[in-house]
Amino acid sequence: MKIKLPSPLKEIHNTLHSAGYACYAVGGAVRNMILRMEPKDWDLATDAEPETVMRLFRRVIPTGIKHGTVTILYRGASYEITTFRIEGRYSDSRRPDGVEYTPSLDEDLKRRDFSINAMAVDIGTGHLVDPHDGRGDCRRRIVRAIGIPEERFNEDGLRILRAVRFAGRLDFTIHPDTLKAMKICVLNLDRISRERVRSEIEEILLSDTPSRSFLIMEETGILERILPELSSARGVTQKGYHRYDVFLHSLLSCDGIPLQDVGLRLAALLHDIGKPAALTMGEDGQPRFHGHEAESARIAGALMRRLKFPAAVEKRVVHLVREHMFNYEPGWTDAAVRRFIIRVGRENIEDILSLRLADQYGTTGKKADPRSLDEFRDRISRVLDEALSLKDLRINGKDLARHAGIPAGPSMGRVLDFLLESVVEDPSLNEREVLLEIAGRFYNSRIREPNLPPSKDPDR
Ligand code: ATP
Ligand code: MG
Repeated sequence: MKIKLPSPLKEIHNTLHSAGYACYAVGGAVRNMILRMEPKDWDLATDAEPETVMRLFRRVIPTGIKHGTVTILYRGASYEITTFRIEGRYSDSRRPDGVEYTPSLDEDLKRRDFSINAMAVDIGTGHLVDPHDGRGDCRRRIVRAIGIPEERFNEDGLRILRAVRFAGRLDFTIHPDTLKAMKICVLNLDRISRERVRSEIEEILLSDTPSRSFLIMEETGILERILPELSSARGVTQKGYHRYDVFLHSLLSCDGIPLQDVGLRLAALLHDIGKPAALTMGEDGQPRFHGHEAESARIAGALMRRLKFPAAVEKRVVHLVREHMFNYEPGWTDAAVRRFIIRVGRENIEDILSLRLADQYGTTGKKADPRSLDEFRDRISRVLDEALSLKDLRINGKDLARHAGIPAGPSMGRVLDFLLESVVEDPSLNEREVLLEIAGRFYNSRIREPNLPPSKDPDR
């Protein structure tokens, strides 16, 4: 079989070839070509040692020189090129003890994880090199470890999770022997660094249908090792319009986010994760999950910190999870819509609406109609220009100090918050004179002399 390759690859190949070295395309790009999918990025392999590659090309970055990998920058793109390696000894199922080069492509392919990832294309001739029948496994749609699966999972425990990722992403099944070894070796995952585990989970979240991977994780016992919070949602049944238990609901909600967005997918996956802990039985014999959104937010935060997600992603997810329970109906007042925007944050509105559609998908198993939110969206956009934050008030702390005699400090903060609340309730109050007057009254009756009965309850 001959494979067509882009021309920069040929030029890189020619440079190496004229110096007496080989150059192959390997890994995911070859797999994708065989599957007639768009190659993501091109990984190359050569028998030239990294120092040689660095000498032969003008712009090279030693990105992973410890593992024999450097990155060639060429015509506006970058290509990772790795020197043929043999499997180093793994004394800890985490990392090889050292890197050992080999002149043999076959040896290099042997150390790779799965047959579908162990094909190479000779860039000079376009010929496929496939000693482990990766092509056959692509046709049969099977993920199969190379060699003795248990040994391979003992060398590097992360491969267990990689198998899940490829099977889920490509919608392949896992070969029975490989699957069996995954179950036997599942404890090896405990020794894998959290960052490596996290990055596999991110890849899974970015696949078309993440639920496929999570279901394999459950079946193999992986879920319990790396996301025990999620596996404890299994069997927690919900009543009413819910078709699924909390576990399946979470998985489907995650699938229901159409965007390739790790944060949103995580928010969908974890939005109900607090339900098992919040479960109580109502007098009618139906389960209740009162306050589960706060519990979900707490658990989501802890889970993301454990897996070392970036703090900004954690913050976004926790916020979306905490706010997912709004219950809009057309009877909401404009003030209620404004309070919703303030609570959720202008910049998170689209996210929380996507989350709502995903949640509905996870509830019914049917794609929710995005137009069902049009009326709410419309209400939101109609009040979006009104005063929604302190900086939208037609008055500031300086004015208040000068003209209403309010001292700087904590009292000022309370006065400003009260003014904003008043304006959110009734935007026509957002006039300088009116605000001064309200501020003065509030300060005198509620802060300076809090024991006097207020003329009108300012807290509504
Ligand atoms: P993707 O399309 O997600 O990038 P990929 O197959 O290119 O998939 P990478 O993680 O980029 O996956 O790795 C590139 C190649 O390196 C793999 O195809 C595989 O041959 C090899 N490889 C990567 N990680 C391992 C591992 N832990 N053990 C053995 N081989 C590995
Ligand atoms: Mg890759």
